[in-house]
Amino acid sequence: MIYAAVILAALWLLQIVFLDNYYKSMKQSRLLKAGQLVTAKLGQDDFESFAENLAFENNMSIEVLSIDEQSIYSIDTMGRGSIIGVVFGHQYYSGLPAVPPNAPDEGKDAVKSPSIIQMKTTVQRYYQQLINGEITSFTHVFSSPFQKSGDKSNGSEMLLWGSIVNTAQGDRYVIFLNANLDPLRSTTDILKSQLLYIILFLILTAFGMSWFISRRLARPITDITESAKRLAEGDYTPNFQGGGFEEIDHLAETLNYAAAGLSRVEGLRRELVANVSHDLRTPLTMIKAYAEMMRDLTGDNKVKREEQLTVIITETDRLSALVSDLLDISRIEEGAQTLQCTEYDLVAQVQETITQFGPLSQEYSFIVNAPDKVIVNADRDKVGQVIHNIMTNAINYSGDDKKITVNITPNDEKTLVEIIDNGEGIPPEEIERIWERYYRARFHKRPTTGTGLGLSIVKSVLTMHGARFGVKSTVGQGSNFWFEL
Ligand code: ADP
Repeated sequence: MIYAAVILAALWLLQIVFLDNYYKSMKQSRLLKAGQLVTAKLGQDDFESFAENLAFENNMSIEVLSIDEQSIYSIDTMGRGSIIGVVFGHQYYSGLPAVPPNAPDEGKDAVKSPSIIQMKTTVQRYYQQLINGEITSFTHVFSSPFQKSGDKSNGSEMLLWGSIVNTAQGDRYVIFLNANLDPLRSTTDILKSQLLYIILFLILTAFGMSWFISRRLARPITDITESAKRLAEGDYTPNFQGGGFEEIDHLAETLNYAAAGLSRVEGLRRELVANVSHDLRTPLTMIKAYAEMMRDLTGDNKVKREEQLTVIITETDRLSALVSDLLDISRIEEGAQTLQCTEYDLVAQVQETITQFGPLSQEYSFIVNAPDKVIVNADRDKVGQVIHNIMTNAINYSGDDKKITVNITPNDEKTLVEIIDNGEGIPPEEIERIWERYYRARFHKRPTTGTGLGLSIVKSVLTMHGARFGVKSTVGQGSNFWFEL
């Protein structure tokens, strides 16, 4: 609406308020120019045809008077009678010669009207001043004296310009130029009524546009904002709606995607809390039970005590692995971890990791296909964790042959590491999601004790290294987890 109001104000000022002034000053400068041309031409042979053309072109009358008030030249294109002709008695109203006895009353009245008399006085004063050399030229605006009583077009004005000319032959003349300032009222009336339509049109379109914009733009955005607030409060159900505008639709789509992601993570987090509590409770129960057994029953039975202590130690290891997984992931989440890259032997690291599995490394057969030494530039501890996590999975999910193969293949710039098991494999629909935090696939035949964090740690560390990584897996045949350093 403000925009519409500004446009209207601009139109009003230009077309109605300033139009009159603009028109007058334009007319005035034209008359002045014409006056200069006529002055220059006076006394030349082609003066008459020149003056006639000029008069018609500019819709003005031109009068040349001698200094004894005789008309030397006169042309009137306005059809109303020349002011000068009337003033000096050469004509009377309507361009007829000096008032004839049988002139219509209308004409006589006009000649005798006070406005004509006043005009006569003024013009004659100018004429005298020009002749006496008091002034060389003048411009004067009259309200038109040629108005019949009851004429609606009052306010009509006339512009008179006059100048004294000394010709080369030594003659002196007075030139008068006279033009109508057509009343602009009718024009401005037309413009006003047009403006009224424009106002109506602008108001309607302004309303229409605000309605359209609010419907198509503002409302969807408000809705999206509301839904986003609900999302922030933990309500993952909001469905973000676009409004038909491509950008807003994209935004809504993205937010829906984000909401789905958040909701999934939230679900996984809940599951993790449940899993972790369960995973913490199981070893703790075992530790407590075995400790009590040792206190109350075992006595000095060395064999039994050893057995029970082994269980307690294994369960404690399991607990600390779980806790360290959780710590790692939370540190990675905070982004507190930075890489400390060094050059070291990857083959040695793989061997070390295998021995870390302790008794398991006897139970499972690890086959390492690698050159004697492969030097890589990476964060040793973190890559150790990657290898450890992938191997733990390989052990957990390996097949009955309990065989785990590690291939280390150095290429030109990169070294490819593959950790292969012959276990259950991963169905294609799960393969994207196994890297997600807290994600644990449910398809396994044997229950395992993972946290769902192992592979997300692997992913974070390898991403930090800018390393390529992935998994190739076939259900029933096994998986090949690989990465490049
Ligand atoms: P978890 O603690 O459950 O092992 P991970 O993040 O290490 O968590 O692994 C995520 C999921 O990926 C596992 O729950 C499992 O379903 C699947 N997975 C990982 N490694 C293997 C593998 N070698 N064979 C089959 N499935 C695997």
